[in-house]
Amino acid sequence: MTNKQKVFIKTFGCRTNLFDSQVMLSHLEDFEIIENENEADIIIVNSCTVTNGADSGVRGYVNSANKMGAKVYLTGCGAHTKGESLFNADKVFGVFGQSEKAKINEMLKKETKFYEIGDLDFIDDTVVEEFIGKSRAFIKIQEGCNFRCSYCIIPFVRGDARSHDEEKILEQIRRLAANGFGEFVLTGTNVGSYGQGEKRSMAGLLKRMSQIKGVRRIRIGSMEPIQITEEFKELLGEPWLEKHLHVAIQHSSQEMLRIMNRRNRVESDIKLLNELSQKGFALGTDFIVGHPGETDALWKEAMENLKQMPLTHVHAFTYSKRDGTPSATMKGEINGLVSKERMLELNALITANNLDFRQKHRVPLEVLIESEKGNIYAGLDQFFNRIEVECEHDLSGNWITIEEYEINEEANYARL
Ligand code: SF4
Repeated sequence: MTNKQKVFIKTFGCRTNLFDSQVMLSHLEDFEIIENENEADIIIVNSCTVTNGADSGVRGYVNSANKMGAKVYLTGCGAHTKGESLFNADKVFGVFGQSEKAKINEMLKKETKFYEIGDLDFIDDTVVEEFIGKSRAFIKIQEGCNFRCSYCIIPFVRGDARSHDEEKILEQIRRLAANGFGEFVLTGTNVGSYGQGEKRSMAGLLKRMSQIKGVRRIRIGSMEPIQITEEFKELLGEPWLEKHLHVAIQHSSQEMLRIMNRRNRVESDIKLLNELSQKGFALGTDFIVGHPGETDALWKEAMENLKQMPLTHVHAFTYSKRDGTPSATMKGEINGLVSKERMLELNALITANNLDFRQKHRVPLEVLIESEKGNIYAGLDQFFNRIEVECEHDLSGNWITIEEYEINEEANYARL
């Protein structure tokens, strides 16, 4: 029984925040890390601020953490947008920016309230040894974004794009691979901008990563269409690269891309996605439905263009206002019910594409088992499709090759 104070980290938002939480956990030498927030003396809220909805989610959680009687600290992207108001309202004892997270062990010992927002130029140099509760490792390789999409606040809370030290990244992967991790997911704010403006590239990093003992599969969180270079395309046949790419288009009407201040173009997106699909890749994307200006005519055009894009996965969101962004003051707002209808239409199309893809690509599936319920195990295959496996013996954390399986609406299914 230690008399160390018990710390719980609540992580909101994206994979980059997941990595940041792992960094904080790795620095908490003088505290006990727990997974049950009700027993916590201290709760760290690693917040997200991507939408107004995300903000209210964080605010709600901070209130409930206070009611649990824990000492509450705020970090993450929300520290830059909501930190000051929550600090002045005595809702949190301390606020610290992402640049300060490696100092967490000392900051939690402070006896007076503090507000240390830090800077937006920092680059992490912590090497984490493990990923608690995960069977694959998320590796942050870059931070920040130089794009200025009109609906997005992220560049203002994560800073401009900058890449982590390549030797540190490789050291990170060596350590995790030595600790049994075989699958690595590259993450960041705008992952594809890794190495930008420097004499290095995503493709170069991938080649070096693939030579590390124990690296079995590499996934890339998300890339912008313009970041898929010829050098990168040369790697598409490599066995260690997942057979799925997430290429963020955000919309498929040229006029909407202009309104959203996006850098991609519908025509080149159609060409690129078909090129990747012809190489056997499953393709995911991000898509925002209901952004101001999305008239019926533009939506109709967008769906026609989308039918020419061989997409198999989609992270679709209905537009949600984010104060402080250009889109927040734009005219031509779309009715919420209309957005919902469009979202259903979009998801129905991509779901049908996914089933069609699985039927046309009936090949052995390389699966890393990540979860279980009774004797049903689940994991993702090389195409980033979910498969459920019925088996009497324990498969957790295993890599398995599945030859025989059923293709059902939602997911593939196998019995071993
Ligand atoms: S690419 Fe656009 S949407 Fe993505 S983080 Fe940058 S500004 Fe935001």
